[in-house]
Amino acid sequence: MSNTLTDPTDSASHDDLESLGLLDLPSELKRHLTITLGHRNDIQRSQNESDQRYLYRALAIAVRDRLVPTWQETWSRMNASDDRKVYYLSLEFLIGRSLTNAIQNLDLDDDVHEALHRYGTELEQIADREHDAGLGNGGLGRLAACFLDSCSNLQLPVIGYGIRYEYGMFHQHIEHGRQVEDPDHWLRDGNPWEIERAENTRRIRFYGRVENYYDDKGTMRPRWVESHDVLAVPFDMPIPGYRNETVNTLRLWKASTTDVFNLREFNAGSYPEAVAAKNDAEQISMVLYPNDASENGKELRLKQQYFLVSASLQDVIERWVEKNGEDFSEFGQKNCFQLNDTHPACAVPELMRLLMDEHGLEWDEAWEVTTRCMAYTNHTLLPEALERWSVGLFSRLLPRLLDIIYEINARFLKVVDQQWPGDIEMRREMSLIEEGDNPHIRMAYLAIVGSFSVNGVAGLHTQLLESGLFKNFHTLWPRKFNNKTNGVTQRRWLSHCNPGLRELLNETVGEGWQNDLTKIRDLAPHATDAAFRDRWQDIKLANKKRLADLVFKNTGVQFDTSFMFDVQVKRIHEYKRQLLNVLHVIHLYDRIQRGDTAGMVPRCVLIGGKAAPGYHVAKLIVKLINDVAGVVNADPKCHDLLKMVFFPNYRVSSMEIICPATELSEQISTAGKEASGTGNMKFMMNGSLTIGTLDGANIEIRENAGEENFFLFGLDAEEVTELKKDYRPNEIISADEDITRLMSVLESGTFNPTNPGLFDLLTGGLRSPHDPWVTIADLRSYIDAQATVAKTYLDKDRWNEMSILNTAGSGWFSSDRTIQQYAQDIWDVRALPSK
Ligand SMILES: *Cc1c(COP(=O)(O)O)cnc(C)c1O
Repeated sequence: MSNTLTDPTDSASHDDLESLGLLDLPSELKRHLTITLGHRNDIQRSQNESDQRYLYRALAIAVRDRLVPTWQETWSRMNASDDRKVYYLSLEFLIGRSLTNAIQNLDLDDDVHEALHRYGTELEQIADREHDAGLGNGGLGRLAACFLDSCSNLQLPVIGYGIRYEYGMFHQHIEHGRQVEDPDHWLRDGNPWEIERAENTRRIRFYGRVENYYDDKGTMRPRWVESHDVLAVPFDMPIPGYRNETVNTLRLWKASTTDVFNLREFNAGSYPEAVAAKNDAEQISMVLYPNDASENGKELRLKQQYFLVSASLQDVIERWVEKNGEDFSEFGQKNCFQLNDTHPACAVPELMRLLMDEHGLEWDEAWEVTTRCMAYTNHTLLPEALERWSVGLFSRLLPRLLDIIYEINARFLKVVDQQWPGDIEMRREMSLIEEGDNPHIRMAYLAIVGSFSVNGVAGLHTQLLESGLFKNFHTLWPRKFNNKTNGVTQRRWLSHCNPGLRELLNETVGEGWQNDLTKIRDLAPHATDAAFRDRWQDIKLANKKRLADLVFKNTGVQFDTSFMFDVQVKRIHEYKRQLLNVLHVIHLYDRIQRGDTAGMVPRCVLIGGKAAPGYHVAKLIVKLINDVAGVVNADPKCHDLLKMVFFPNYRVSSMEIICPATELSEQISTAGKEASGTGNMKFMMNGSLTIGTLDGANIEIRENAGEENFFLFGLDAEEVTELKKDYRPNEIISADEDITRLMSVLESGTFNPTNPGLFDLLTGGLRSPHDPWVTIADLRSYIDAQATVAKTYLDKDRWNEMSILNTAGSGWFSSDRTIQQYAQDIWDVRALPSK
């Protein structure tokens, strides 16, 4: 089956290829290497880096060529269809690598193996040449990428819209234990996975002012004049479905202006200034903002948001008008925009503007259409992470949009007044404008008012939105709110990244799990089969070896594969509590110093993740992790019991090596703070056991794995709220011998002998009654749960059984399930019939 495309004895497939003007893959590879790329050397067993880079590019083009016909065909089929279509608007798409994904989805593994064999190399090596497309910070951006994968898998008519950042998520390296950021110029060797569509360029307005004029019917209308315009040029990336003749599109916008255009539009005094203005425009798509959960107020960021939204809406509207003329009566029924957090919330006023100012609709018609096609996903419970934009900035940058937002608000406040007559306080609380000396627009409220659906991303998260952050809105419109628990694609996060397990699963439960993960349930009966458990463990061991090699290459630290691999990788943030993890390591270190090692299991502790460059506390946590690791790894007493590393530059392609090798997954956020988490799901699929709090999707992971197969600890969300009324961490510390000791190890300068006071900010935070993350409150329970982990690990049979049951219970966490729910409950879309 896997050879059908190139098997010369299969004449039908051969004809297929020929009709596309394609040769077999080995010939295509050679042609692209020597003709398309003009490579001069005869590559034979050559392993030099330059040759490998050529091979990567040639192979990527050859594979992409195989996608293009289906891609064109899917695009036409979608355009021809009268069914509703969905546009996923996101400032972030954390895609990672595309080559191996395309090879897997096209079933080209054998052909690629054959093609590369002639050059004496393997796919694994060549694939490693690809730069990650790191157009996202963390979970939110990776979710968008998993969702697009699932939409293609389910053949849904969905287009992703984003920004083609010239520089993606920064590259992190460590100097003297501290994070240093380097720019990520991921496009420097070209990007074979994009096709520029200059013919679909859009024009985006900024600045200027609003004036009134009389239209042909003598009606006074507003218009946006004297704006400084920027061009949005689309670059399309293919999103292949899994062996299903579907290739959807991710359209990424690049900001640009032509010199010709500049000279006319910028009205510049002289030629050099006009040419320099080109740079101004191109700044907009220059760099991804590296803040995972917050950062507000930067003009350039608001420009990016509006740029994405306006270009994408114009794109959709132009295709609509081509087909339906100026009749927008069914536009809302036939189109749906899913807003990935509030970042694209300008879509609400921008669609109003386009419908009214550019297409002549009246307010009521335009509002009817807009609120029929906008849907908003919330991603955070941290109040400080809710986006607000100053009215002053808005009125300068997007004057026409501000007028529309004011009008939306005036009409909305009448609805509030009907529900709560005369309640001034309620008006103030719910207004889209936060009043004060420096009034701000509350983007989440704008998104809620303008959307027909508002969803959270895990059961607990949605509950907390309804009862907390958005309580009033939930009272007003209870039926708008719904939950869609996140998921991840098993094609990347199990099948591709864990080939050993993939083969075992295919053999045990059949291949159906690759597009229907509920089938993985059939694994459960094998959990008690001793021979099966041994094979399970062997696969994990091979994956641990692969990770140990990578860790050694990146850090010089040797991980012992007989130790337990205990892993926490995610953005560095106080609420995720990497500090709690470090405190446990210090506890183990202290026990080792005292010779109290009974029942201790040897561990390799790996922590990785990026800190936002301006987030001082998070960067200090990185420093602490590195300094504790340095002391631990240098101590001969620890040698047989404990290793620790900070894994630098954590990203999608490193997670593909890390999650299959992990035995213990650390999901230890303060309850009520992590909206969902998706890293937790990748680990579960790959048979890691979770130590975690009752937070986000951990709750559902525990339900699906069985509570006896999950290491629970800590306060729940309600208990955290209760505790904060009277939290006294210093009393907890002094009442607990272990905690007293580990704090004294930390505070006596064991890890910072030459830099006293270095970590005072962190220890002060831990000891503060106002510590929002109540780390000390959960420490005892965490240490005890870790002791249970250790005890369980010593019983290999039990551990493997639990591991198998975690994988067997992970069916719920496929993003295919999540997307089916979006499609049914929110989007109301069905699969496009194949050609
Ligand atoms: C899955 C993933 C995340 C999200 O991890 P959480 O633990 O849910 O925060 C972040 N970054 C990368 C590279 C990922 O693959």
